[in-house]
Order: sequence, then structure tokens, then C-alpha cells
Amino acid sequence: MKTFLTATLILLSIILTAQTDQKMYDIINDISSKRIEKDIKTLAGFGTRHTLSDTVSNTRGIGAARRWIKSEFDKISNQCNNCLDVFYQKDLVKQGTNQRITKDVWVVNVVAIQRGTKYPNRFIMMSGDIDSRVTDPTDYTSDSPGANDNATGMAGAIEAARVLTKYKFENSIIYVGLSGEEQGLFGGQGLAKYAKQKDWNIIGIMNNDMIGNIKGVDGVIDNRTFRIFSEPVPPSETEKQRKSRRFYGGEVDGVSRQLARYIHKTVKTYMPEMNPMMVYRLDRFGRGGHHRPFNDAGYAGIRIMEAHENYTQQHQNIREEDGIQYGDVVEHVNFDYATKLTSVNAINLASIAWAPPAPTEVKIGGIVEPSVKFKWKKINDPNILGYKIYWRDTTSPTWDHSRFVGNIDNFILDNIVIDNFFFGIATVGKNGYESPVVFPSEIF
Ligand SMILES: [Zn+2]
Repeated sequence: MKTFLTATLILLSIILTAQTDQKMYDIINDISSKRIEKDIKTLAGFGTRHTLSDTVSNTRGIGAARRWIKSEFDKISNQCNNCLDVFYQKDLVKQGTNQRITKDVWVVNVVAIQRGTKYPNRFIMMSGDIDSRVTDPTDYTSDSPGANDNATGMAGAIEAARVLTKYKFENSIIYVGLSGEEQGLFGGQGLAKYAKQKDWNIIGIMNNDMIGNIKGVDGVIDNRTFRIFSEPVPPSETEKQRKSRRFYGGEVDGVSRQLARYIHKTVKTYMPEMNPMMVYRLDRFGRGGHHRPFNDAGYAGIRIMEAHENYTQQHQNIREEDGIQYGDVVEHVNFDYATKLTSVNAINLASIAWAPPAPTEVKIGGIVEPSVKFKWKKINDPNILGYKIYWRDTTSPTWDHSRFVGNIDNFILDNIVIDNFFFGIATVGKNGYESPVVFPSEIF
């Protein structure tokens, strides 16, 4: 009887593991709309956070804003027994670097690292931006509350830190406020360079830029849909990789796209009321964001953003014209929506930070054969349950089929023809959390 009960309990825990984890719902419920509202108002209250603005005042300008952000991260760290490394990372950008840098300026990011217990050098990152702008990108004195662009993303990163520091993770999480976005993505460039120098193993960056507007310039009001922008393949790929894609595929399977699919799946599992919309491009048409410098450095990175923008409320001097209120003011921000998108980030940070490392050296074979074959390098980690092979129709955006194959380093998927699907492999932890899917990089 006792054996039966034990067996039942083990079976139950396996079933539960394969389903959902209560901790993820706790995280969603802990993300506070009230705190996010307060932080957005505080950030907007610094008058302007333009990258070239005042750094001396304690009430106005980017200096005051970044000191406040650092003090919030420090406060959070105090409450978790100093579980965050909080520091400024800065680079001097010289006058004339581009037309938007009209004087020498220190571009200063505020970084908070929650060290992983097992893999302190593996990082999943959430970013928002500190800086704001008005119509003229070189105007660093006019009021520029940047309530949606991008106090929302910044407030989200601070709130995610508040909630997630109550937990311990195997991998490290970075919460960061980046500067210099509007002047030419300088803060992201600086931190990506810093990451390379420090040899950080970056799993990915989730860049949040404008996560608080639900009334689009297109007239649509929607507080459920949001966009996940991801570039198709890394710009750092080699000519050989580019040429081989013609024969083996992979045009829509770069590392950033796998991160986008991962987020899409986590949201569909834990926040089914939301409509994550994967957009198969780097960013909006011809426009930029702070995930790009990380992509340039070869790291996986995506942008999370509202689905319906309002251009009268971004990069505008505050004014009224023909009955239209211009300007990025607090009144236009939907705090509950910003809260939901913060939860989207938090559950994905947690899921990835709890997951084991993805498999490496993933190889695929099976040309003119009835079955598809895989080989990969096993990861030496006692907390790994095994590996999962994913596949999908070539026209499908999501990994629709999967098979868990155990803790092995090769597998033959019988009677599945290599020509008709795309394939990938993920690692599954004993805790149920999975790594992002790895698209094969070699043929055998
Ligand atoms: Zn902007």
C-alpha cells in the first residue's frame, strides 16, 4: 500500500511537472499595477530624461532619474539579503559621433544582477530605457516625460526585480535600465561590449520599449495583444552559414526567433488571456530599439511592445494642435496593460532562469531516408531530466510537435521525413523547465 502510494505520488508529481507550476501564477499575481503606476509617475516626474540633460539636479534630468533607479534596485537588494549586484556601467560618447550627440556625454546604464546559484555566468536579461525625447532629438531641456516611451519598460524591469528576487534561480537574471536609446542605441552598444569583455554567456535579452499604450493611432483599442519582434537570423552569421541555408533551411530559425517562440509558448501556457503576436522582423519598419546592439554582437534578443502605437504620443513636444493632445504624458498610459506585459517578462525570466542550458552541437541527418536522425552534446548536470525533440510544418510559426526522448545524446525519429518539417532540440530540467529550442547547426 505504501509503495503504491509513493508510486502514485511520484507519478502525480511527474504529471504536475509536465503541466504547470503554481510558482508562475504566484509571480503573475505578485506583479503590482499600483507599484508600476507609481514608478512610471516618478520617472515622468523628472521633467526630462534626455540623455544630454542635466545630471546635477536631484529633481530634474537623467542624472536624477538614474540615481533614483539605482536607489530602487539597492532597496530591492536590501530586502533580499543583498541578492543583487547593482552598478553603473558607462561609456563616454564624444560630441559629433552622430548628429544627435551635440556635446560629450557619459551614457550611463543602471545594471542589477541576480546571480544564479548554479550558472552565475549565464544571463537572461530584461531591459527598459531610462532616456526620453521630444520632437527635436537634440532638445535636452524641454519637458519630456516619456511616460510610455519608455518609463513603462523601465518601471517593468524594476517591478520584475522586486518580485523575482523572492526566488532563487540556477541562471543569473539581469534587470537593466539603458540610456542613450533615442540618441542612437548607445547604452545597448555599451552594455553588449561590456558583456563581451566580461565573457558573459547571454541566453537572451528581452527589451521592453513602450509597453503601456492600448489606444492605437489606427483607432483600435486592445489590452490583450502585444508584439514580440525578432530578427530572422543573426547579422553576425558567416557567408558559409548564409549559403548553407539555401539547402538546409533556417531562414526563420535564428536564435532570436527561438527566444520569441519560447516567450510565445510560455505566455500561451500561463497567460492564455493574452495574445502574443510574433512579428518576423527586427523591429518596426525602419525603426530601432535596444535589443539591436545585442543582436549585432550575436546574442539572442527580442523586443516586447504594445501592438497599437500612437504616434501623437511619442517623440512629441507637449502641445495641443487642432484639438489633438500631443506628448508622451502619464494620462495616456494604461497601467494594467503595462502590468500584464511586465508579467509576461517575469514568467519568461523565471522559466529561462530555472531551465537547464540548451544542448550544443546539435546535428541532424536523414537525407533520402525514411527517418530523421539527431546527435547532440549532453550536458553534464544532475538536474537534467533529458531532451525534447521539436518539429513543425515548414509554414508554421510555432513548434507544434514534440517528443521527449530521455537523457541521451542521439535519437532517430522513425517515419518522419526530414524534408517535410523543421526540427529543433531543447533540454528539459527535472523541475519541468525547458531551455529555448536549438536549431541544428550541422549535418551528418
Ligand atoms: Zn522612443
